[in-house]
Amino acid sequence: MIVSRTPSTTGKSKRPERLLICGSLLSVIAIVCIVTFLLIREHASAQESATRSATTIAQLIDADVLRTVELYDLTLQGLIAAAQRDDLQNVSPQIRHLALFDRSTTARYKGDILLLDRLGNVVADSSRVEPKPGNFADRDYFLAHAFNRDIGMFISRPFQTRCDCDEANQWRISFSRRISTQTGEFAGVAVASLKLDYFDQLFNSLDIGKDSTLNIINSDGVLLAQKPYLQSDSVGKSFGNRPNVLKILSDKDGKGSFTSTSSMDQQQRLYTYSRVGNLPLTVMVALSSDAVFGTWRRTALLISGATGVLCVGLLWLTWLLARELRLRQRAERELGQLAATDDLTGVANRRMLDQTLRHEWFRAQRSGQPLSVMMIDADHFKAFNDRHGHQAGDQALKTLAQVIGENVRRPADLVARYGGEEFSVILAETDSQGAQRIAEHIRQAVEQLPRVDEAERAMTVSIGIATWTTVSEMTLEQLLFAADKALYQAKEGGRNRVVVAS
Ligand code: GH3
Ligand code: MG
Ligand code: MG
Repeated sequence: MIVSRTPSTTGKSKRPERLLICGSLLSVIAIVCIVTFLLIREHASAQESATRSATTIAQLIDADVLRTVELYDLTLQGLIAAAQRDDLQNVSPQIRHLALFDRSTTARYKGDILLLDRLGNVVADSSRVEPKPGNFADRDYFLAHAFNRDIGMFISRPFQTRCDCDEANQWRISFSRRISTQTGEFAGVAVASLKLDYFDQLFNSLDIGKDSTLNIINSDGVLLAQKPYLQSDSVGKSFGNRPNVLKILSDKDGKGSFTSTSSMDQQQRLYTYSRVGNLPLTVMVALSSDAVFGTWRRTALLISGATGVLCVGLLWLTWLLARELRLRQRAERELGQLAATDDLTGVANRRMLDQTLRHEWFRAQRSGQPLSVMMIDADHFKAFNDRHGHQAGDQALKTLAQVIGENVRRPADLVARYGGEEFSVILAETDSQGAQRIAEHIRQAVEQLPRVDEAERAMTVSIGIATWTTVSEMTLEQLLFAADKALYQAKEGGRNRVVVAS
């Protein structure tokens, strides 16, 4: 049954709510995107500035090591030049010692400077005029120079001292140069050692923060020094097979930076490395990710938290607002429906009838489709009221509205109470035959309604129909008048009948 048709449609009423939800979702997405972008940029800038300071530290170490190695080289070159002078063979050992080692450095971490003959025997020692007998033919530097004349200055692998002195088992590396005869044959080696404590003191002068490390490795990945030591006994060990060290050693440029996990303690670190001049030594600064990203992480946590709260708040407010909007729209819809409904019968009221009629009229004008209007009036209703009372009359009107509604099924059609015991039906896109058929159904259905009193005659209705078509040239008023006139004719003709306006 068609009770009423409200002009507001669901699609339209949902639009502001959808707009609100879409708007705040877009705002949340925009906020999250902006914050993410800013955090990513901050992360990159934290990494950049950490890399810069790590590079500065590496360069400081580089410069110091390079200067030290240069001093060693000068010492060795001076020693070789002096050793090759023939006139020194005939002077006293004291003078000879003085001449050989006058250019020697006196640095704190300098070990002995030795002159070895071609068999590896010590022939001169910087620490004493009479050298202590010893043979170092098995050392890597000795073998390297013996079998290769062009290696220049050789830096040995770290080794531990052999003597029974206080400095036993001390880690050192040595710098050495080959001594050649005039014909280029191997004549021995000049060698100076450096205590690896040198690197420790150098590293100790630099502050790199907790969990970060400073390292120096040779070209085989052997660790010369580390601050702080991640494992005991790691000096002298080769880490050349570890992925990070492999990556650093295989870099042709000799300098760079990357983030990786340490294979020693599984901590994430930012590695910055730099080769010391042309030497087979590489300085590696590994900053802990907390040192690099600690501040960023705290800021990111704070900003993400605040953004999260903001977004949740925004979404919550949106939900509240959308709910209010929905409730208001429902109330408005209900109010609208109430304003358009007849209280007694539940079908559309006169206001709704006028509104729909105008709407359908213009629609028909545009589409050219026929529009039919039906006027239905209960026959002898005054008498019915008089006999059964007004309450029974009201009930009969309700039943009548229901019967009409049951016979008018299309969504665009409208049943309305015109007033009193009169009803109107708007039949959009329906010609007069169609309307007549529906009217006949209504008439018969009313006639067959159960009677209040068996002795009494059946309740009946008279129906007048008028139809607008493109050829009829009628105004809306004329259409209604025609339907009214047809109803009057039905009454005149004896009631309980359908008359179509000619
Ligand atoms: P006719 O066949 O010529 O239409 O006769 P009628 O008695 O139906 O027509 P009339 O216009 O003389 O009387 C209409 C009656 O309808 C008057 C009134 O008692 C009754 N009526 C109108 N509205 C209501 C209503 O809301 N409730 C009830 N119970 N009766 C109503
Ligand atoms: Mg009447
Ligand atoms: Mg009547």
